[in-house]
Formats: sequence, structure tokens, C-alpha cells
Amino acid sequence: MIRTLSGATVKAAGAARPTRGVTTRRLHSAYDVAVVGGGIVGLATVRELILRHPSLRFILLEKEKELAVHQSGHNSGVIHSGIYYTPGSLKARLCVRGATLAYEYCDKKGLPYKKCGKLIVAVEQEQIPRLHALYERGMKNNVPDLSIIDAKGIREREPYCRGIMALDSPYTGIVDWRMVALRYGQDFEEAGGTVVTESEVNDIATVTESPAGSTEGMKYPIAIRDKKGNEVRCRYVLTCGGLYSDRLSQISGCSREPRIVPFRGDYLVLKPEKHYLVKGNIYPVPDPRFPFLGVHFTPRMDGSVWLGPNAVLAFKREGYKVYDFNVRDFVDALSFRGLQKLVLKNITYGIGEMYRGVFIGAQVKILQKYIPELSLSDVIRGPAGVRAQALDRDGNLVDDFVFDGGVGDVGSRVLHVRNAPSPAATSSLAIGEMVADEVESRFAL
Ligand SMILES: Cc1cc2nc3c(=O)[nH]c(=O)nc-3n(C[C@H](O)[C@H](O)[C@H](O)COP(=O)(O)OP(=O)(O)OC[C@H]3O[C@@H](n4cnc5c(N)ncnc54)[C@H](O)[C@@H]3O)c2cc1C
Repeated sequence: MIRTLSGATVKAAGAARPTRGVTTRRLHSAYDVAVVGGGIVGLATVRELILRHPSLRFILLEKEKELAVHQSGHNSGVIHSGIYYTPGSLKARLCVRGATLAYEYCDKKGLPYKKCGKLIVAVEQEQIPRLHALYERGMKNNVPDLSIIDAKGIREREPYCRGIMALDSPYTGIVDWRMVALRYGQDFEEAGGTVVTESEVNDIATVTESPAGSTEGMKYPIAIRDKKGNEVRCRYVLTCGGLYSDRLSQISGCSREPRIVPFRGDYLVLKPEKHYLVKGNIYPVPDPRFPFLGVHFTPRMDGSVWLGPNAVLAFKREGYKVYDFNVRDFVDALSFRGLQKLVLKNITYGIGEMYRGVFIGAQVKILQKYIPELSLSDVIRGPAGVRAQALDRDGNLVDDFVFDGGVGDVGSRVLHVRNAPSPAATSSLAIGEMVADEVESRFAL
């Protein structure tokens, strides 16, 4: 039996009001736009939409008890400046604009951040041409205040770091991205939006009857149903499902590709008595063969210092522990031709990452290239995050931001954010603007 969400409980979003608090606000039976997924991308976008269209009704549906607990709550917390990305790509443009907007937003809302800067450090001669190429990229992307510094300059910025040359990005910062995401949610609610948590969407379809008691006929032809049997009617749907973006696309009849493959990233944490070793972000020169930036030293807003993350294939989407396992996720990933090809191409690297995940001494050995004083006894195992890595069927990693819709009754009313890779937290406000533009151009709001 289908229940409409008018009988369901609604939970308040926002840092100031904890998401556990149940409010008694009455829900409407139908909405202009429903957004599925309460991570930083869904929240930034629904916030942007309601600020542009205050007279329309918006609802955000999130499967967890609280908002932003997956990628948006399990990341390095870096405000990236936009150095790495191909000039002209969405990733580059969204990151550079997103970082500026993020700093402005935090200033306006009084959210704490630190512009503690970042060094990308070359420790071997063969990395120097790549470091210069990164500098050129950063300049083309209009990253502010970039410069190349020598070994002496590195020691002035990071007294315990050793390297032969570095790219210095003082514009890079750190922030608690979950706190930022919750503030977007609070803005959304204050503007009249509705947030429903514990609502795992498992069906998106067109309907042929108007909602019970409705005087508006077939104005709301899309029915979104969740696992508990609740139903929301709306005119349009936007999904921002992170690690489940492919499955959300599939249930609306749209393409399942690019497929999402989960990669867990484990962090080590520096013991408090060793915090003096790290002042700002210290990153390696990335290996161009891989999409991830490499293990790095990152100070956190709470004063701790994280080292990592690595990247190992996870056996469960949203599984944060080494032994987390889900049969469907496992079979799904391994039976996908794209992943089989990727594994074959990168088997040595993959085994190396798994080895370094199990034996943290091997990880520390790599980190000692940057801070020789670091020793195994200075670190303990820390938290983990899981990346939603989009993959095509030829085994190519989909690196840029992707969204698409479909055709037919449902498809023409649905837009899916398919791939919002790092640094989508940094880019979130710019992504919100772009997706809102897309929603406006596709749908007759
Ligand atoms: C280890 C790691 C380090 C990172 N470091 C950084 C960094 O330093 N800086 C940076 O800018 N970016 C970083 N990123 C990237 C950034 O965190 C992500 O790109 C961003 O958080 C993606 O946000 P999202 O909203 O798309 O996904 P998510 O935060 O995963 O949100 C998706 C939401 O959809 C919900 N959902 C899924 N399916 C359903 C359903 N059926 N019904 C209802 N709800 C559903 C989920 O519960 C979830 O809340 C990092 C990512 C990782 C994993």
C-alpha cells in the first residue's frame, strides 16, 4: 500500500537545529521539484533553486537519518584551488568559481575555515617537469597566487618538509564540508523547502491519476516512492545520489552508465604530539596515470592531522570498514566489464594500494619522502571515505562532472547528476548554479 508523505515525519536540517530533531511541519502532497540525495551537491542545488524560485514548492529526500553523512561527511576537508584540472573542463571552471563562492559563503554565514595553503612537493628530479606543467595548468585555470618555490622556500613554509621544488598555493584552505552542507540545508528550509530524511527512494514513475483530494488534475505526473511505501508527487525530479547515482538513474528508466564503482580511501591520523610536523596541506606531485591526488598531509579544522587517503576497491558502497561487504554491490562491481578492464590495466598498482592499506608501515615509508622525521609510531589508523568513481564500459574513469536525463514520460522530467567527483565539495555552490541553470532550461518551471 502506498502512503503519501503527508503522514510522514519531517526532520529539520541545518547545523543549528540537529537533524535528529523531529518537527511536526505539515507536508504538502505535491511539489514542483523533488531532489533525491541530501549530500552537498543535492543541498547546494536545491538551495540555489529555491532562492531563485521562492514561490515554487521543493522537497529533498534523503535515505539516511541525517544529511551529508556519506562522501560529503567523509572527505579530506580541503578547499581546492583548481590547479589539477584540464583547462576549460567543467571540473576546472567549477572548482575555481566554487572555491571563491565557498570562501564568500563561509564569511557571510560565519562558518570557520582556514586558508592554510598547500604545497605540491617534488621529491625526485623526474617530477619537476610535471610540477611545472601543473603550474601552467593552474595559471590557465586562473588559480590565484600560485608560485614555484625551491627547497629553501619549502622549509620556510613547512619546516619539517623536504623536497627539491614545490608549487605553492596559499589560496588553498580547509573547512568542515559537512558543516557547510548542513548550512545549505538550513538555508533551504528557511526559504520554505522541505527536507525528509529516512526516505530511500526506490521507484520513480509516471502516474495516471491525480493525488487524492487534489484540485490540480494531472499537474504532478511523477510519483516518487520510497522503500517504506511513502509516495511524493511532483512535476520534476533531480537526483544527486553520489554512490547510488547509477541505480537512481536506472530506476527512472535512464541509462545505468556510467557505472559507479566504490573506492575506499583509508586515512592515518598523526598523534597529537606530532602535529607540529605539519602546518598546511602537503601533497605529492600526482601520478598522471591515476585519478586520485595521492596520499597527502591534511590539517583538519578540529586541529588533528590526517594522512591519506589511499584508494582500494570497496566491497560495499558506503562501506567504511575494511571488512564491509554487500553481495549486490560486490557482484555488481565485479560483473561489470568496465571494472574488469580497469583491474587488468592497473593490477600492480591495485595490489600495491591494498598492501599499503594493510601494512601501514609501507604507507608511512612513502610519507617519509616528504617528512623524513615521521615514524610508524607517530600514526594510528583513522577514518575512511568511499569515493563514487564513475566508470565507462571500456574501463575508463569518468573524470569530469556529468549529468543527464532521459526520454519518454519519466525521462523527460528527470535530471540525474551522474558524476560529481572530487573536488565537488569545493565546487558545490558553482555546481548548484550550473545544475539550477540546467533544470531551468530543461523543465518548464
Ligand atoms: C575520501 C574522499 C576525500 C575527498 N576530499 C575532498 C576534498 O578535500 N575537497 C573536496 O572538495 N572534495 C573532496 N571529496 C569529494 C567530495 O566529498 C564529493 O565529491 C562530494 O561530497 C559529493 O557530494 P554528493 O552530494 O554528490 O554525494 P554524497 O555526499 O555521497 O551524497 C549523496 C547522497 O544521496 C543519498 N542517496 C543515495 N541514494 C539515495 C536514495 N535511493 N534515496 C535517497 N537518498 C539517496 C545518500 O545517502 C547521500 O546522502 C572527497 C571525497 C572522498 C570520498
